[in-house]
Amino acid sequence: MTSTELETLKKVLSLEKSKGYKNTAVVGGLDRFLVRWMEGKASESLIEPLPGGYADLKAAQRQEWIEDTLRALETGAAPPKKKATRARAKPSAKVEASTEHTPVSPVSVLPRVTTAVEAKLNRLGVHTIRDLLYLFPRRHNDFGQMLRVSELEIDALQTVKVNVWEAREAFLGGRVKATEAVVGDETGNLRVVWFNQPYLAKRFKSGTRLVLSGRVNVFMGSKTMEAPEYEVLQDGEEPEHSGKQVPVYPLIDGLAQRTLRRIVSETLNTWANRIDDHLPESLRRRAGILDLSQAIMQAHYPAGDAAREEARRRLAFDELFSLQMYVLSRRRQWRESGGGVPLPRKTDLLQAFLSRLPFPLTDAQSKALAEILEDMTQERPMTRLLQGDVGSGKTVVALAALLTAVAGGRQGAFMAPTEILAEQHFRTIGNLLGGPAETEGNGNLFTFRLEPFERPISVGLLIGSHNRRQRKEVQELLAAGALDLVVGTHALFQQDVDIPRLALAVVDEQHRFGVMQRASLRQKGESPHLLVMSATPIPRSLALTLYGDLDISVLDELPPGRQKIRTRFVEPPRRQDAYDFLRGQVSDGRQAFVVCPLIEESEALQTRAATTEFERLSTEVFPGLSIGLLHGRMPLREKEEVMERFYRGEVDILVSTPVVEVGIDNPNASVILIDGADRFGLAQLHQFRGRVGRGEHPSYCLLLSDYPSAEAKERLQIMERVDNGFAVAEEDLKFRGPGDYFGTRQSGLPDLRQARLSDVDLLAAARSEASSLLKKDPNVGHPEHRLIREALEAQWPELVGEIS
Ligand code: ADP
Ligand code: MG
Repeated sequence: MTSTELETLKKVLSLEKSKGYKNTAVVGGLDRFLVRWMEGKASESLIEPLPGGYADLKAAQRQEWIEDTLRALETGAAPPKKKATRARAKPSAKVEASTEHTPVSPVSVLPRVTTAVEAKLNRLGVHTIRDLLYLFPRRHNDFGQMLRVSELEIDALQTVKVNVWEAREAFLGGRVKATEAVVGDETGNLRVVWFNQPYLAKRFKSGTRLVLSGRVNVFMGSKTMEAPEYEVLQDGEEPEHSGKQVPVYPLIDGLAQRTLRRIVSETLNTWANRIDDHLPESLRRRAGILDLSQAIMQAHYPAGDAAREEARRRLAFDELFSLQMYVLSRRRQWRESGGGVPLPRKTDLLQAFLSRLPFPLTDAQSKALAEILEDMTQERPMTRLLQGDVGSGKTVVALAALLTAVAGGRQGAFMAPTEILAEQHFRTIGNLLGGPAETEGNGNLFTFRLEPFERPISVGLLIGSHNRRQRKEVQELLAAGALDLVVGTHALFQQDVDIPRLALAVVDEQHRFGVMQRASLRQKGESPHLLVMSATPIPRSLALTLYGDLDISVLDELPPGRQKIRTRFVEPPRRQDAYDFLRGQVSDGRQAFVVCPLIEESEALQTRAATTEFERLSTEVFPGLSIGLLHGRMPLREKEEVMERFYRGEVDILVSTPVVEVGIDNPNASVILIDGADRFGLAQLHQFRGRVGRGEHPSYCLLLSDYPSAEAKERLQIMERVDNGFAVAEEDLKFRGPGDYFGTRQSGLPDLRQARLSDVDLLAAARSEASSLLKKDPNVGHPEHRLIREALEAQWPELVGEIS
């Protein structure tokens, strides 16, 4: 077989890996590809056959198979056969087989992990034994610190052991089914409420003994605990006597805390000591951190508070170290690759553009633009982050930079995270460049003139849901170097898109882009300048952590005359008032947004929530008004249509999933109501709120939450006082870790679960260790760094692919 064929296979497998083993790397599935690939090749020695097919494997088995095969392709050696047997091992073979398993074996090889339990663990993101060891408790119940009812204090997070006196189903606020219980001990009674969980009433028979953890408040004169975490104590079980901190794991329906705890603790006993520490001892000593096995043990079952903190520090170091390895090597690669395109600094085209804008640039815009243009005159490719609050005018700055690329005889690309936003930019460019644009082709191309620039400038739109003909039209012009600017979504990253004269790529709302996509921008031989933009204001300390590979410009000023957006947290009983307020605005001729509660980070569920809410609002709350629905799963045509109707004023209230977070720019919209506001981060609420106040009308943001905890209320009230995005971000970070802050799952950033912003010393240590390691071993190829490399590979497959 030829080396190209091998390369193809490697590429496909790597792609499958980077896409998370969903059998999506090739059209028609991997099995068909493999059959075709193997035809007539003596490949059996390299590819371990899959009798049941790839499609039938569980995720962890897929991962294992692909990794084995890739390794085999790398080394030319046959993969170990035994693993195949293991992957197909029957549960009965579990115990004897245990010595052959490795930490990346699927959890199904563990005793007690039935198929049903495995499915649930999978939903927690746990596929392998290692994942399970890394399923750290959300917190610990310190049973040594257990209080009695009379000792409970208002508003503090506390744990109490009680008897259930009475539990019943109840309706609260007329809307929500709940369980309401009276519990107590010899010192007094406590009222407990669990919303949306009426079934608990049946479970908690009188006399049931519970451990509750939660916050206490006073409701109508009696101490009440709302939605506490609970644990049912079995007969004879006396948690005080266990004398340790008991882990509390994230739960999923149908998997009891008790069961999960037992599975984890047994796994710890067998496996914690068999995890190889990827950090050498010398490094651990310098950084003052625990070894890995210890840290894992202590993170689950700490000997005390100090031990738990030590464990956290070790695990946090790992996160930060790996992140720094990533950002530092990316920075080095990008810089050393050279091959950037030096562009002219001052051009007539730029002057013409600026003088034709209907407004002067703000000082902040001018300064940022100067920094960007300076970078673009260099041969070293620019990697700059442009941060600016919602509405600070990043698009204009980006456009000025893109025109500079055009003036230099090159091409520019402008990428947005959603099709809605890409369309919007395409339109905006038309508007900013001299009135409503004449569109050509199939509505995805236009040209304009900016005198005295000698020729017309052409702009194209490239998005995935355009039909093949439309895409082909733009792609051909791009590939021929005949299109000056292209706006698009990640469709621009596709391999068949060729932008031979690309000199500048602008990526909008970078926090929503997978980091790896940056790499795919690189064209053969040349590296475009890169400008990423984010409206999520990131405090500087965090920016350095996460974007250590970028230079930063900041728009810290809004254009003059912006409306201040009045924000109110609406107490639950006043929901109707909020609706009345919306109606009032609509009868004044304004328009409104309603953002649906975030149920889960699953688009399907959000879609359902939005659809249900749309129906309720249309029929029950606002009959007679025109209500529109917008969610990410709608076909593009429908999205465009509802947006169009919203812009034209034909839709009074636009009900939407969180997709409105970015981009929508309707100056007539004066109020945004955010339901379930406590489920969103403050920075995200700030983005939502930026959808209004874009015109001359006084604007409002209403935050609703049905049963906010005391803490949630406090957070939401911050939004009432703080209107500057950076200040919001700082406040937000006090409540949440950086991982939550970014919604890392969608951003392509690693999960920072253990690290905190206050870990300044750890960050410094991680950065210096990463930096000196890379100096010695730029490709992380030395044998003594094998484990580090593997750890990186697991987290940043695309990076390791690149540096080798
Ligand atoms: P964002 O930074 O959120 O992407 P935009 O680039 O969408 O902000 O700009 C928000 C609005 O402000 C747009 O309507 C834009 O035309 C307008 N704008 C941008 N710069 C200025 C300025 N210097 N003066 C007045 N309006 C401006
Ligand atoms: Mg923008």
